[in-house]
Amino acid sequence: ESYKRIKEVDGKIQAFITLDEERARERAKNMDDAVARGEDSGVLFGMPIGIKDNIVTKGLRTTCASKMLENFDPIYDATVVEKLRNAGTITIGKLNMDEFAMGSSTETSYFQKTYNPWNLERVPGGSSGGSAAAVAAGEVPFALGSDTGGSIRQPAAFCGIVGLKPTYGRVSRFGLVAFASSLDQIGPMTKTVEDNAYLLQAIAGLDQNDSTSANVPVPNYVEQLTGDIKGLKIAVPKEYLGEGVGEAARNAVLEALKVLEKLGATWEEVSLPHSKYGVATYYLLASSEASSNLARFDGIRYGYRAKDAQNLIDLYKKTRSEGFGDEVKRRIMLGTFALSSGYYDAYYKKAQQVRTLIKKDFDDVFKKYDVIIGPTTPTPAFKIGELIDDPLTMYANDILTIPVNLAGVPGISVPCGFHNGLPLGLQIIGKHFDEGTVYRVAHAFE
Ligand code: GLN
Repeated sequence: ESYKRIKEVDGKIQAFITLDEERARERAKNMDDAVARGEDSGVLFGMPIGIKDNIVTKGLRTTCASKMLENFDPIYDATVVEKLRNAGTITIGKLNMDEFAMGSSTETSYFQKTYNPWNLERVPGGSSGGSAAAVAAGEVPFALGSDTGGSIRQPAAFCGIVGLKPTYGRVSRFGLVAFASSLDQIGPMTKTVEDNAYLLQAIAGLDQNDSTSANVPVPNYVEQLTGDIKGLKIAVPKEYLGEGVGEAARNAVLEALKVLEKLGATWEEVSLPHSKYGVATYYLLASSEASSNLARFDGIRYGYRAKDAQNLIDLYKKTRSEGFGDEVKRRIMLGTFALSSGYYDAYYKKAQQVRTLIKKDFDDVFKKYDVIIGPTTPTPAFKIGELIDDPLTMYANDILTIPVNLAGVPGISVPCGFHNGLPLGLQIIGKHFDEGTVYRVAHAFE
């Protein structure tokens, strides 16, 4: 069914970079046989899923939407992919994204642009734009994305689906091609909150292969979708409804709060005073980590290798000049600068200190409140081509999602009405490892 739908619509949407049809059909057949034999199967058994193309899949090309990895065939599966196989899902293919997950529109992909299924002149968001568009267009019911500064929640909002960035450490990053290791998390992207909870259930938990994965028990998420939010305390940061946030996004949140009040929750305005430094802090830290993580793409070990190099240094230079796109180079240069001696204290170290303050803002609010609510993005999906030559405005699109990554807490985007035919997202942010409450509120609202 997925392949039929993909054949119908993916010419227009262009969500997939690589399909894995032969293996998927074989797996589906084996599963049919297992069912016929009466073997036990879970809820996700036989479910089609699309995987963002920065999560490695054994024997299935994993490109990070970069020329650098155009022909890269991983020799192992990411932990999440292995867990999904155990849960019985069927990998349909690999989904388009911004190159190395750097971007907010999926326009920096080396291969193709992805189009927003609600309006083909608009971006699907990014960097997990392929994942969001594929789910929204009905090509797959489940997808995995990754979120470093908003890359699951922002495209989920732009495409009118549900996307969760789990607590840092909740899901193993083993096999996720690293962008900014202290911020990256893999998370589920689905049509409904219930589906989302099932998918997180399958991929969450401690992994010996990822030293930053947390040894915190994984509760039963679906059990917590009771619809009951009586007495729940909601905090609404004034910074999330203030300057830089569009009228439509603000109104949608105020309407949503009315619905939640009717269900028995209460809300109050609070402040996250350091969140205004979030974007600056993020772009220093994320770029610094990226400049280090991407040093491995040197033309020697794997991936693209430039031809006609005169010597080793020349090989590095040519490979990296030809293999990376403009946005990736911009980040590497910014990060290398911020980490260089003489600038380290003024930029990288300062940014680390501000990160601590941002995290403390969240801790303070969570002493009194159960969840924080605001818009996911300041505006609905922008036009293709509108911001690609204006990186600073593109970066500012992430003002509402980035603080959540810096603090390490979980955040979800759920559909919250439309503006001019384009979906808007409501962001619900929870305490560390409290995805259960986030889901409960999202489910009661949806
Ligand atoms: N748009 C942000 C960036 O370009 C977020 C990316 C992400 O979360 N992977 O860095």
